[in-house]
Amino acid sequence: MRDAEQPFICFLTGSQHLYGERTLQQVAEHSRRIVAALDASDAIPLPVVGREPLTDSEAIRQALTGLYADDACAGVILWMHTFSPARMWIGGLEALRKPILHLHTQFDRDLPWTEIDMDYMNLNQSAHGDRELGFIETRMRVPRKTVVGHWAEPQVQRRIGIWARAAAGAREARRLRVARFGDNMRDVAVTEGDKLGAQIALGAQVNGYGTDALGVAVAEAERGEIDRIVAAYEQSYDVAEELRAGGARRDSLVEAARIEAGLRAFLESHDARAFTDTFEDLGALRQLPGIAAQRLMADGYGFGAEGDWKTAVLLRVLKLMSAGLAGGTSFIEDYVYHLGPGGSRILGAHMLEVCPSIAAERPSCEIHPLAIGGREDPVRLVFTAPPGPAVVVCLIDVGGRLRLVANEVELEAPDEELVKLPVARALWRPKPDLATAAEAWLTAGGSHHSVLTTALELEAIRDLAEIWQLELVVIDERTTIPQLASELRWNRAYYQLARGL
Ligand code: MN
Repeated sequence: MRDAEQPFICFLTGSQHLYGERTLQQVAEHSRRIVAALDASDAIPLPVVGREPLTDSEAIRQALTGLYADDACAGVILWMHTFSPARMWIGGLEALRKPILHLHTQFDRDLPWTEIDMDYMNLNQSAHGDRELGFIETRMRVPRKTVVGHWAEPQVQRRIGIWARAAAGAREARRLRVARFGDNMRDVAVTEGDKLGAQIALGAQVNGYGTDALGVAVAEAERGEIDRIVAAYEQSYDVAEELRAGGARRDSLVEAARIEAGLRAFLESHDARAFTDTFEDLGALRQLPGIAAQRLMADGYGFGAEGDWKTAVLLRVLKLMSAGLAGGTSFIEDYVYHLGPGGSRILGAHMLEVCPSIAAERPSCEIHPLAIGGREDPVRLVFTAPPGPAVVVCLIDVGGRLRLVANEVELEAPDEELVKLPVARALWRPKPDLATAAEAWLTAGGSHHSVLTTALELEAIRDLAEIWQLELVVIDERTTIPQLASELRWNRAYYQLARGL
């Protein structure tokens, strides 16, 4: 998907004039070498751009004000090479409303035991220089991620990279438009929420369109584009006999491709990178978009069924964050349980719309009846997600604010072939176990719709929540219900106070 301006991370080094020109030149040289290493690191997906060391309050204020205004700047890394009295940073930090990573590193990895003298001590002061910055950040309530360790270590670069992805995701959210076709599935509560509040908090715009507008786009889809999409189906999936050229239901496949062509054209012309629909309001559409929604997700679009704009926003953001990583990210719904032998597990799926990025095998393209919606049978991709670690995340509106709930899970292969199940699915064992995880999820008010990612780790969700300044309820190996219930009570008070009057 398009992005006119390539986003970048800016690396700023703090110092002061006290040390003299020669020391400052060494600071600048060390800073350049660290920036070059981070910029070249495969673990960090965005370019890292350095600046000359900052040594006074006016230069700091100008630099940070400029970065705030620069839309391409996704986030800022701060590092104090020497001691930079932090009152100099107040004006700049006040102005900088961008994701911040405080890198607490030191140029030299090893202490030069026999060589160390006072010149060395004067040059290498990160150990206390960064404490001075950390103090003012905490005093000013500046949200940030702190990463500690030598800058060349893979683990340090990995954690910077995860944060850079979250910073890019938050940037995407500020620019995101969600096309919402029709309204909500009637009577459903959790898919509702304060769209205006979400736009203020995250930046994402949720724009409503009548289903008729989509129907027009589908009717106007160009023949050549429909043919191109049909060819893509045949090339990428095992197409069922009845849907192949000359097959009894070939028209349904062409109709599915027409819907996909119309939907793509509409989203592109409205600059929308996420969308929702609802089976209760399909207007002139002859099928509920199944394969179309699945393939748009695979191309990075956010999606939420039944009008679920919050999940559509979250999916688009997590898709962008996971760009280039192995694994996939999909819309999913907790569907049914296995509570029997072998341990309790969740079978996740949806009526149709699960993203093939989480598939291991080549999906099959099939057509089956849909019991609800009253339209023609929809074409869909069918597959099973392979075993491995994953995170399930949801975004809910708890009244006046948003909450993220995340559960670490382990995807597993089904005990037996699901030969009669005509939808894509994923089977997982939640941590610490289904009973605790589901009790925690329900206590936190987590939704049945969520995003399942095998590409991102929990740390990425933590970083995103910190940047967004949203509550994140984590359900993992260490979760206990009494602790979680207490956390939710404390958080209610904290977030109410933090929001102000
Ligand atoms: Mn649903």
